[in-house]
Amino acid sequence: MGEITFEYYNGPVEHMDRLADGQHTCSFCGQLGRCFRLDQRRHGCFECLRQGRFLFDHDTEIGLLTSDGLRHFYNHHQRVPKNFNKAAFRTLLRTPEYVTWQQGIWLTHCDDFMIYLGEWKAKDFHQHSENGDGRSLFLDMTDKVQAFLWDRATPVGAKGPADWYAAYYAFKCRHCGKLRGNWDCP
Ligand SMILES: [Zn+2]
Ligand SMILES: [Zn+2]
Repeated sequence: MGEITFEYYNGPVEHMDRLADGQHTCSFCGQLGRCFRLDQRRHGCFECLRQGRFLFDHDTEIGLLTSDGLRHFYNHHQRVPKNFNKAAFRTLLRTPEYVTWQQGIWLTHCDDFMIYLGEWKAKDFHQHSENGDGRSLFLDMTDKVQAFLWDRATPVGAKGPADWYAAYYAFKCRHCGKLRGNWDCP
């Protein structure tokens, strides 16, 4: 088995949704290895996902992406930008889902889907910010409607949250390096 690389997924393997424990025989290529559990009987390996032998649907900022294409379905769906990279639809379908509590919305930037980096806690924002100011990076990355989390999770007198009861999903733009994210909670 080759390296586990996906163009739009650069998070931990353990964050992949539907990942089966242990090793299984892939229902598509017959190889033994790490697999996704697709249904009661079928497993699919990383390589077969990359090859598009099976696909994963994804909810994104600009529509619900399935093998039938991109559909405007939920209220949070924005208009598809005119110059959006259409080849990205095919590639995102060949990308693992990440584990979420309720819903994961794949973010977009520079007319493309962003790369999923993983779940971030407050310390990750401090680490990734250029000046150590995690709060300003958080506010820069997060849409206004979700921006209250940082301050709400900060105990009185503290500099920032130690932890929060939310799952923050971080993404990076493949083109300009911009970081964005969104969160949900149980
Ligand atoms: Zn396979
Ligand atoms: Zn960008």
